[in-house]
Amino acid sequence: MPERVFDLKGARVWVAGHTGMVGSALLRRLASTDVGEIITATSAELDLRQQAPTHAFVQDQRPDLAIIAAARVGGIQANRNAQGSFLYDNLMIAANAIEACRLAGVSKVVILGSSCIYPREAPQPIPEEALLTGPLEPTNEGYSVAKIAALELAKMYRRQFGLDAISLMPTNLYGPGDNFDLETAHVLPALLRKVVEAAREERRYIEVWGSGRPRREFLHVDDLADATVYAIEHYSDEQHLNIGTGEDISIAELARLVAEVVGWEGEFWFDPSMPDGAPRKLLDVSRMQELGWSAAIPLSDGIEMVLAERSITDGEADLPETSSGEAGRRRFPRALQ
Ligand code: GDP
Repeated sequence: MPERVFDLKGARVWVAGHTGMVGSALLRRLASTDVGEIITATSAELDLRQQAPTHAFVQDQRPDLAIIAAARVGGIQANRNAQGSFLYDNLMIAANAIEACRLAGVSKVVILGSSCIYPREAPQPIPEEALLTGPLEPTNEGYSVAKIAALELAKMYRRQFGLDAISLMPTNLYGPGDNFDLETAHVLPALLRKVVEAAREERRYIEVWGSGRPRREFLHVDDLADATVYAIEHYSDEQHLNIGTGEDISIAELARLVAEVVGWEGEFWFDPSMPDGAPRKLLDVSRMQELGWSAAIPLSDGIEMVLAERSITDGEADLPETSSGEAGRRRFPRALQ
């Protein structure tokens, strides 16, 4: 294991975006460390798109470590329909937060991005070096440009001001607290909801967008939180790092896997009028592996975990028995009702 470059013991840690799926996973993970204090503010209390309040907040709170997990995020449809807002909001959040951390002398800053920073036709699995080597996938260009700007800002602030900023680029994430709104969700929570509802309503078919052929890699958000803590403790360099499982799956295979975990035996209708997006997104995770970290949660276990998550499973409706033969009946995630 590489030497420890940051000591979390007693540290004041600002988690920006703590109510989101990633932020909440970070809070859960940090709770099992010996950090001193966790600093948070809801978006109602602090709008990170506003420079003056953001700078004032960080000056006032003086964290030792800042993890910037706040972002405007969404699935392929939400991104495609609001490219300008995805670019503006994410640019402002990153620029304000990073500059505020520099001005307040924060010891370490973590920038969280996304695998969509890479060119649409990047080699697969995608190495970190593929950044800025070709045109982006058009359906999420606004979001990607903002995330690229954030990691470049972090890199340049390290060079110019010596800010210890590291950038982590996770692949497609899922987990508890995900967005289940079919218009704006990513594919995994969207399919989970569709399958769960089809099971409840005893429907035989569900609709899957696009051809089913695109391939994606899915990382449970608890794995990302673990990778983040690991990178904070063991990494300090300008090179951004990919965070993923190293394995991908086609959308058609994912639909079948979700159906299997839920225990629904219907069929899928593929809707070619909906966009496929990038043909494949699989990260080369060898840098993180060499640093000593690998993902631990297999996809089927992760889907089970989302389905079983207490905070989203206290509804009244019942699911059919699972195919894994688990006793009893499942309950619906509240977000799915
Ligand atoms: P992307 O990784 O940025 O393309 O974002 P998504 O997670 O939204 O979509 C991944 C792939 O899943 C795309 O090819 C979508 O067309 C496909 N897909 C299939 N069914 C759905 C669905 O119900 N919702 C979403 N968001 N994507 C779907």
